[in-house]
Amino acid sequence: MSMEFTDRVSRVEPSATLAISQLATELENEGADVVDLSVGEPDFPTPENVVDAGKESMDAGDTGYTSSNGISELREAISEKLQADGLEYGPENLIVTPGAKQALYETFQTLVDEGDEVVLLDPAWVSYEAMAKLAGGELSRVDLSAHEFRLEPALDELAETVSDDTELLVVNSPSNPSGAVYSDEALEGVRDLAVERDITVISDEIYERITYGEEPTPLATLEGMAERTVTINGFSKAYSMTGWRLGYIAAPEELIDEAGKLHSHSVSCATNFVQHAGIEALENTEESVEEMVEAFESRRDLLVDLLAEQDVEVRAPEGAFYMMVPVEEDDQAWCEGAIQDAHVATVPGSAFGTPGYARISYANSEERIEEAVDRLVEEDYL
Ligand code: PLP
Repeated sequence: MSMEFTDRVSRVEPSATLAISQLATELENEGADVVDLSVGEPDFPTPENVVDAGKESMDAGDTGYTSSNGISELREAISEKLQADGLEYGPENLIVTPGAKQALYETFQTLVDEGDEVVLLDPAWVSYEAMAKLAGGELSRVDLSAHEFRLEPALDELAETVSDDTELLVVNSPSNPSGAVYSDEALEGVRDLAVERDITVISDEIYERITYGEEPTPLATLEGMAERTVTINGFSKAYSMTGWRLGYIAAPEELIDEAGKLHSHSVSCATNFVQHAGIEALENTEESVEEMVEAFESRRDLLVDLLAEQDVEVRAPEGAFYMMVPVEEDDQAWCEGAIQDAHVATVPGSAFGTPGYARISYANSEERIEEAVDRLVEEDYL
């Protein structure tokens, strides 16, 4: 018997990151000074020129519906960006969405049928599991934690995990929550497997601009991958635009046509003036992005050093603004204790499929990061 939608929803857990933020808010309402290292958004304002572009667009009357897949000027600007990265995509290969989350949701709904297998690389961002389940899919997972979150040592295991039912593999580099950037060798391994076993790959590249070493290679640029990759990206992280809600799907036209039906009959167009602000973000923010990434890099180094002083060795992540820190086996208890006793909010690794770790976000000032580590040491959590 096929699964009802309500059955699919009941397979999904509420967001663990949201649960931690709620606890942090409750403590703050009671007067506690909580250092919040659980957040998934940059602590920088949206660049001023982007805000101005949004205001000007609103003043100019850009407040009506737009074409469902997004205004042509923004799709042109995105396609120019993708072409500069080596992806031969035009505006017809794009759907602009209110956030990358919506882009992912539409992709899962379009590609995954009941019983299809979706393979995740753990630790994996919390919503992939939920989205696969909402589409009726079944999950298989490959744990990268034993390999310092690198993918190339786990390629054999990945090949063994893939089965005839595998429809989709999700790759997220730089990764939330590990901050790992997968090497070219790893991505080529993914390509070989995807081509051999006829698998579609979602490449969630939302952290692509936040890297501290070599820039990651866009998966769809590898030979044989353009026709089987769905590239997801968004404006939330690179341009500090979380609340603006802007993202996109870039994919072969057949998938865009299918996903476009779902898109047009559900959420439809992203907010008109937000799309106009998105053009400014893509075209004129080089300096602001650079400054933000420099700040994240020095916080990352600070956190690695502070942890090393406590004999906690962590490989410095190459991207995003998160770090997986080994804690006790019961990571849920560690995180709950850390917030109750030290008033430091982090997210349990088990929420990402990797127990025994806590995800620390360094989207917070150096001063607050130092304060958090001091408190965790004082309360015996480090
Ligand atoms: N993908 C990853 C890996 C993320 O971490 C997030 C947000 O935390 C998203 C997608 C969704 O981003 P948004 O919907 O804000 O564009």
